[in-house]
Amino acid sequence: MIWNEAIECMRRDEMRKLQEMRFKRTVERVYHNCEPYRKRMQEAGIAPDDFRGIDDVAKLPFTSKKDLRDYYPFRLLSVPMSEIVRLQASSGTTGKPIVVGYTRRDLGIWSEVGARCFTAYGLGKQDVVQVSYGYGLFTGGLGAHCAVETIGGAVLPMSSGNTEKQIMLMHDFGAVGLACTPSYALYLADAMKDSGIPREEFKLKVGAFGAEPWTEAMRRELQEKLGIKAYDLYGLTEIIGPGVGHECACQNGTHLCEDHFYPEIVDPTTGEPLPAGQTGELVFSTISKEGMPLLRFRTRDLTSLNYEPCLCGRTSVRMNRILGRCDDMLIIRGVNVFPSQLEAVICEIDELEPHYFIVVDRVNNLDTFEVQVEVKAEFYSDEMNRMLDLRRRIIHRLQSVIGLSPDVKLVEPRSIERSQGKAKRVLDKRKFN
Ligand code: ADP
Ligand code: ZN
Repeated sequence: MIWNEAIECMRRDEMRKLQEMRFKRTVERVYHNCEPYRKRMQEAGIAPDDFRGIDDVAKLPFTSKKDLRDYYPFRLLSVPMSEIVRLQASSGTTGKPIVVGYTRRDLGIWSEVGARCFTAYGLGKQDVVQVSYGYGLFTGGLGAHCAVETIGGAVLPMSSGNTEKQIMLMHDFGAVGLACTPSYALYLADAMKDSGIPREEFKLKVGAFGAEPWTEAMRRELQEKLGIKAYDLYGLTEIIGPGVGHECACQNGTHLCEDHFYPEIVDPTTGEPLPAGQTGELVFSTISKEGMPLLRFRTRDLTSLNYEPCLCGRTSVRMNRILGRCDDMLIIRGVNVFPSQLEAVICEIDELEPHYFIVVDRVNNLDTFEVQVEVKAEFYSDEMNRMLDLRRRIIHRLQSVIGLSPDVKLVEPRSIERSQGKAKRVLDKRKFN
């Protein structure tokens, strides 16, 4: 099912025209209504008229998370406060949060793109959808909530936490959809099992998972454990929240709502635009928002784009899986390592649960690299040789994939801390030294 066929299946040349028109308006709007943008464009010697079309995008200045901090809380708004009807803030773990203001029209756009996502997952009016993303300043809960209401589904606003109740209501209310982080979905899968209620008694069919990077291997794991189809839901606070992109039934790339959020891929070090298909940093310009439009916002997310039409009929550009954020990349003994690479290996090994924790430190000027992995109850054994053999196998696999041999620690089932929101899987002690 397609929520907005006219847009989602629009001819590419028409999409480009629409983007161009909206982009021009946005450039003018921020130039006239937002001082930091005007200043920056003047410094770069660009007037709104210099932006004639998509070919001129690279002339525009970038915006970064730092700008949102520097102009905290409201200096990046392009409308007076009287026009703002909602404030949200990102979950940023350090320092001040990042604030985003929405006009009523912006909230409409958010609901519209959210509706495209949940429709693409096959959900509709008849379905109960449990929203277990956190509600509050974090965009996850309210974003998914309004999306489900827009398609006419019955939203069950659980927020995160209170896991036993989550399972009870999922069962009693016959939830068909579940929206939460992939790591919380894993937690809920275990809780479903523990509840003793047979799987057939649940109606769950669809997962809308996002807010953190996850791998294909994790998708398989979740689909199997929960007996559902697990779809990607992408978004970030600065751009709007969840709904910037979504998978379709093909599960072959995340369609971006590019009539509202214009995507580019740039080289993360130089900022130079990269040709389609190459992996780099994803950059978005919001081209229809009023409250806090952003030009060329650097997401720090690493991925690539695919402009081929999709078998589902949508023509919108597809984003490949996010490798991680530039900031997630660990440099260990000079080797670049993404947690997602470890995740892929760990999910492949039958004896392991998909839970892991990475500890990096520096001792005597040498990086140490420890990976804690959880052994499934049925394989956990006191037999030294069996455990040593398993450990050797894991190290060998990791060595061949990432080119480093970590110190693998096999830990007991359920000993790695579970996450109810975005998982924290890395402790880099070098940052504190
Ligand atoms: P914070 O930066 O504080 O985590 P957000 O809650 O806005 O703020 O998180 C947005 C970020 O979460 C994205 O930039 C991306 O790194 C990550 N993210 C969101 N959805 C996905 C997804 N489906 N796949 C991978 N990463 C995601
Ligand atoms: Zn598709």
